[in-house]
Amino acid sequence: MAARFVAGEKTAIQVASLLHEGGLDHVTEEHLLQRLLRSQEGKVSLPPPLARGAAYIVTGKAAPGNAAGYDMPAPRPQGGAQPAAVAPLWPASHRQAAQRVDKEALDRWGFSDTRFAAQRIDGRPAVQITSRRYGAIGEQPLYQLWEFFPRQLGVSLSVRDTMPEAPLPEVPAPAAGLLAHLAAAVPEARVRSDAASRLRAGTGHGLADIWRLRTRDASRRVPDAVVRPETEEEVGAVLRAARDSGFAVIPVGGRTNVTSATACPSRDADPRPFVSMDMRGLAQVLWVNPEDGMACIEAGITGVALKDALQQHGVTMGMEPDSMEFSTLGGWISTRASGMKRARYGNIEEMVVEVRVMTAEGVLWQHNGDASAAASSCGAHGGAVGGGT
Ligand SMILES: Cc1cc2nc3c(=O)[nH]c(=O)nc-3n(C[C@H](O)[C@H](O)[C@H](O)COP(=O)(O)OP(=O)(O)OC[C@H]3O[C@@H](n4cnc5c(N)ncnc54)[C@H](O)[C@@H]3O)c2cc1C
Repeated sequence: MAARFVAGEKTAIQVASLLHEGGLDHVTEEHLLQRLLRSQEGKVSLPPPLARGAAYIVTGKAAPGNAAGYDMPAPRPQGGAQPAAVAPLWPASHRQAAQRVDKEALDRWGFSDTRFAAQRIDGRPAVQITSRRYGAIGEQPLYQLWEFFPRQLGVSLSVRDTMPEAPLPEVPAPAAGLLAHLAAAVPEARVRSDAASRLRAGTGHGLADIWRLRTRDASRRVPDAVVRPETEEEVGAVLRAARDSGFAVIPVGGRTNVTSATACPSRDADPRPFVSMDMRGLAQVLWVNPEDGMACIEAGITGVALKDALQQHGVTMGMEPDSMEFSTLGGWISTRASGMKRARYGNIEEMVVEVRVMTAEGVLWQHNGDASAAASSCGAHGGAVGGGT
């Protein structure tokens, strides 16, 4: 079917070119359609619905400012009678998601219900966002965005080009005995060893990282397992198990780093088994004191969840990195992240008063600057990180 559409479009381009060469500067849709239908009597066989769609698309492509596709010298008339509505020949293949799905996409930025999809809308190639998550822009065909890609990248694109989704690659079995050690430290349900969890946990959001995921490249070492503790005690138990049985732990938050910071070192560099500790199981705002602008917050909370939670207390942290839908407080502190409102609210290191760092030997308190400024501390169930608002 796709081949017939392409052939139909090619035929329409050829016929339009012939008309133009024959001296017709202004090829209208109706004109082209009539010629396409007539040419069926000769060699070309184009069914009427295909001819109508192809005529509409080819004359539509000649609209000024449309850089993609056939560059026909005769522009489509802008004023006057509008063409009659034409049923779309190339049906929209990417319908907008009816329901919001808050699951993170595996191999690209964002949620699984949201991506940029290319399709013909009213006969013109356009990009459209596949969900309404981001408001009105999700309802608009983004024609200029489509035109931007070939112009900037210097490659020709077709809305019918797709990158098939390949199955996930096989990953090596976790190191012997590791899962049992983890299951002894935390409830078994917190431990994952499936390929998707391990590949994603060991991959950041830099271009090279995402390309690896997209192309299902498993040549880089992945963590043996992912564990997601939900309490400070569980964090400690995993770290003690690591110390006692000789595996290494990499804490991970939103895995939005662009420096491969959450990737495992090669076996040559460090042959120990590696476990990613997903801190997003600790995501509570433990207390907020709006009067002195202090709060105690667990490390795994994402930026958006934190903003929403603080809003309920009438305060804001003012820390809004572009990655805030997924990046976490612990990740911000670890990477010394910066937000777009920095000029007004300061950087993360200016907001943090104390951090509570879990080690295999117990908890370390770290005070930022003058320790006497830390008016109060997180309780026994405090998260790994306390941040001031
Ligand atoms: C689209 C996009 C936009 C971005 N915008 C910005 C921006 O505006 N400003 C900016 O500064 N950066 C930005 N970044 C980079 C990235 O979001 C930040 O570095 C962010 O701080 C990482 O947080 P994370 O939770 O994703 O951490 P991860 O990527 O999961 O981890 C980063 C590092 O922190 C460590 N870590 C994570 N959590 C903990 C914890 N609880 N305890 C101890 N260590 C921990 C990890 O081991 C790792 O070394 C952006 C990235 C992307 C992809």
